[in-house]
Amino acid sequence: MFCIFAEPNFTFAANAAEPPKPNVVVIFCDDLGYGDLGCFGHPTIRTPNLDRMAAEGMKLTQFYSASPVCTPSRAALMTGRLPARNGMCSNKRRVLFPNSGGGIPANEVTFAEALKDVGYATACVGKWHLGHLPQFLPTNNGFDTYFGIPYSNDMDRLNDVGPRGRAAFWDPKVEYWNVPLMRDLEIIERPADQNTITKRYTDEAVKFIKSHQDGPFFVYLAHSMMHVPLFRSREFADTSLRGLYGDAMEEIDWSVGQVLDTLRETGLADNTLVWFCSDNGPWLVFDTHGGSAGLLREGKGTTWEGGMREPTLAWWPEHIPAGSVSMELGSTMDIYTTSLKLAGADVPTDRVVDGVDLSPVLVGNGPSPRKAVFYYRGYQLMAVRMGPWKAHFVTHGSYGSEPRQAKKHDPPILYHLDHDPSEKYPIQNEHPDVIDKIKKLVLEHQSQMQPAPSQLEIPLGKTK
Ligand code: MG
Repeated sequence: MFCIFAEPNFTFAANAAEPPKPNVVVIFCDDLGYGDLGCFGHPTIRTPNLDRMAAEGMKLTQFYSASPVCTPSRAALMTGRLPARNGMCSNKRRVLFPNSGGGIPANEVTFAEALKDVGYATACVGKWHLGHLPQFLPTNNGFDTYFGIPYSNDMDRLNDVGPRGRAAFWDPKVEYWNVPLMRDLEIIERPADQNTITKRYTDEAVKFIKSHQDGPFFVYLAHSMMHVPLFRSREFADTSLRGLYGDAMEEIDWSVGQVLDTLRETGLADNTLVWFCSDNGPWLVFDTHGGSAGLLREGKGTTWEGGMREPTLAWWPEHIPAGSVSMELGSTMDIYTTSLKLAGADVPTDRVVDGVDLSPVLVGNGPSPRKAVFYYRGYQLMAVRMGPWKAHFVTHGSYGSEPRQAKKHDPPILYHLDHDPSEKYPIQNEHPDVIDKIKKLVLEHQSQMQPAPSQLEIPLGKTK
């Protein structure tokens, strides 16, 4: 008898004590290097707002994107799944282009769809790059609103305008790239005025937050910067010691300050989890217009650390210990799973989800459930990190640099990343036991990998 009454009372008490669902903001940069923030050691780029975000929150030093290039990386963030599982990668075309007919498959459960199911208002602002045809755009994939350039800001190049080749990037002008700016499903400006793009993305995000203060909300603010061609507003022109790259980065920093200040001023800070990360490493062949991976090897396009380890911050005052540093493993796919769990949303169980719940890391600086990182280039598994060990089975040069051919390694090249984050000193000969364990992990991983057909190889007009 006692139990019958006790159980409902207990349930009621638990519900009454349940904290409100946290708002979620994901600020995602493009081609930002591991070494490009003040709080990650850059000597001449000033990032006071990001530094403050780190001081009030958590810096994650061993955090990875799921791909060294844009489209697959973003697909993984949006679905919590490796790009090979949903076909958002290719061995022939690295990303989606304006002449692509593919995009994010309808059967994927996007970040926004999952949160919308539990009552979140959802906004996508910025670069999407998961398909530009109507069915693939944000507002048909769980977002209430969209404002942004739907793919990379260097696409739709008008070859008869401005200097040819790389020269156009050294002194970029808006009219060289005929990229569209969209609101929901409509093109509202073309070419998009990229000089003011960071500022306008910021204004959109701030407006959305202010008009959804009753929450819960999800804002995905995916900056077009720091991808070349680099642009910044007039206020930031020629202000950074680091030149044009620094100007653009310092405007991103300003933008982060605007978002966090809005959360502070509206009293939403303690109930909003903000992530800051990037889709892949710096585009090194663009000289000073590309970022810096700091002490990490190489950059965008490779599975060396510089291509996929990202400067990552998490901010949630009163929940994440201020000034904490986590050296635990994490992935952008974990941003999906962690945010969904905290929101009380369902993480799909009818398919493999690669993201894990990092809440123990965030709220207690505890151990990460993530024990491995799988580094893919297209559909090819190139390298595996298991704890501190990383084995390269295949290597390939950075995007646009040499060597252009993949090189296989047997035995794989082994590094201890905690001791040797720059991947300088191979130690495979000393640790055959570690290589055996990693090979077992690969077999286990591959037994659960069913690659989906590539969306990136579908030409425009051939969309299924
Ligand atoms: Mg990118």
